[in-house]
Amino acid sequence: MKLSNIRIVLVQTTHPGNIGAVVRAMKNMGLEQLHLVDPKHFPHADASARASGADDLLAAAVVCETLEDALAGCSLVFGASARLRTIAWPQLDPRQCARVISTLDESAEVALVFGREHAWLTNEELEQCHYLVHIPANPDFSSLNLAAAVQVMAYEVRVACSDNATSQESEPSNTQLATADELAGFYRHLEQTIIDIGFLDPDNPRQLMRRLRRLFNRSRLDKMELNILRGILAAAQKAARRRY
Ligand code: SAH
Repeated sequence: MKLSNIRIVLVQTTHPGNIGAVVRAMKNMGLEQLHLVDPKHFPHADASARASGADDLLAAAVVCETLEDALAGCSLVFGASARLRTIAWPQLDPRQCARVISTLDESAEVALVFGREHAWLTNEELEQCHYLVHIPANPDFSSLNLAAAVQVMAYEVRVACSDNATSQESEPSNTQLATADELAGFYRHLEQTIIDIGFLDPDNPRQLMRRLRRLFNRSRLDKMELNILRGILAAAQKAARRRY
């Protein structure tokens, strides 16, 4: 896995100084790609000041309107969460997360998503992640500063990727994983189809889509598998139209 293919995604950051501290942490660990989802103030002098030498990463940062835009092209997405969630979602610590990343194919793109300073990632945002990552910390004071959280994650990823480069553990694979935007399209298609065939009542959706996302995320679909599933959905919609 190439460190340059790992993108850090910050969602609605309030303090531009934190964005500067994040790029510094990234550059120290050899990460290059920053995506900002709807930042409150950017560009900003405080961001440049705190970047102290990592301004090139700030200049190259991509500003996006939505998290879905920021994840385009990524085949694996991790959401950093300061608290353990009520929704059951696959969860890793930073070292386990870095291990998973280090075994991916060279061409894979990966996103590490971080939430707002004064709130956190919403459940809808977390559901766009394959895994949640929680940095084990003092249970009475477990919320790290944003840049500190990025630093911990970036360090673990660097160590795991360089361990792997020396041990040559990573296996090149022939399959290309589906990307986050392809999966988002699939989930929309799936939801519409199960409404069309009368399986999901849109007025009483319960937890169905969340459970289905969890199921398909766990199986790490490749592009061909995703196309097969979309073909099945299209056929089911066609059959439902003929019947009703
Ligand atoms: N007040 C928020 C924390 C904001 S810190 C809360 O209590 O949840 C900003 C971001 O840093 C978080 O959204 C999360 O992405 C990351 N972060 C902070 N502490 C973390 C921890 N212990 N584990 C994982 N991510 C953490």
